Amino acid sequence: MKEVVVVEPGKVEIREVPVPELANEDEVLIQMKAAGVCGSDHHIYHGSNPCSTYPRIPGHENAGIVAKAGKNVTNVKEGDHVIVDLLSSCGECYQCRIGRKNVCEHVKVRGSGADGGWREYFTAPAKEVYKIDDRVKWEDAALIEPYAIGAHCTARARIVEEDVVFILGTGTIGSIILQTCKAKGVKKVICCDIDDASLERAKAYGADGVINSRTEDVASRVHEMTDGHGVTVAFDSACFPGSLTLCMQPGILCNAGRMVPMGFCTAPEQITQAMINQRELDIIGSRMSAFQFEPTIQRMEKGELDTEGIATALIPFGEVQQVFKYMDHPAPESKKMVILF
Ligand SMILES: [Zn+2]
Ligand SMILES: [Zn+2]
Repeated sequence: MKEVVVVEPGKVEIREVPVPELANEDEVLIQMKAAGVCGSDHHIYHGSNPCSTYPRIPGHENAGIVAKAGKNVTNVKEGDHVIVDLLSSCGECYQCRIGRKNVCEHVKVRGSGADGGWREYFTAPAKEVYKIDDRVKWEDAALIEPYAIGAHCTARARIVEEDVVFILGTGTIGSIILQTCKAKGVKKVICCDIDDASLERAKAYGADGVINSRTEDVASRVHEMTDGHGVTVAFDSACFPGSLTLCMQPGILCNAGRMVPMGFCTAPEQITQAMINQRELDIIGSRMSAFQFEPTIQRMEKGELDTEGIATALIPFGEVQQVFKYMDHPAPESKKMVILF
């Protein structure tokens, strides 16, 4: 079988290796069918992901078929279509005990701290694998993980119908947060980006107002759109140096608002205690997701997720080099790639 290895930042090898054996009877062998390409994979390739070590097989948005199941496996069987969780957690630490396994003290993340799914086969403990209906297209199945992030961060943000939401960045995650807020009944979601095509897509997903921050003043447009009240929740899914400061500037979040940074940008921001405490803001971290794969799979199976236009490029695994080419030279109209095996 073939596997994709980022040997060091900027250097990729396609290696020929044997199909792995099950390590024990609680594991399954997955034959990969679809893998999403995410911003964090770009960071692994470019050496800017603080959670990644090398050499590394990327890929945390993994969908495939159970090719072999150990004797003790009961939740899935050979031939089942499955989604593989990106998380392995210990189940015993403080964080695991309080239901926060995504930030387990010993968390291992497939595709960044541990090897991921950009290979034809790999093994995983069966408890980290969830069945998905055969009728879900593979390119949609690969989107379960980012949709689980949307479910997680909106839960962390305690989103309710009466919220007024601001989303900075309408790429994949911003679009999914938008869809999730609308599905939770939020009446007003304002999306902000520098790209008009992205903002048009956001309107199609239900954005109630859009702001182009390249040509418009963000705080004064938010002021207009919210009758001067500001928004109750802001998500920063743009994650560039200064993006968090932009979201937290006076005039965007209302008093008692919640701020949810979504990324891993390491650049210092210009945030003061006064910016937080004058409004008594909550700053709410959100990392990956916990316990959201199964509910998200159910929503996908029921056709509740609008995946149209989320994955904009489907790349055959045989041409996986293209993925890295596009990472170096992104096509402007391309948003998200999915590798199909
Ligand atoms: Zn991802
Ligand atoms: Zn733990």
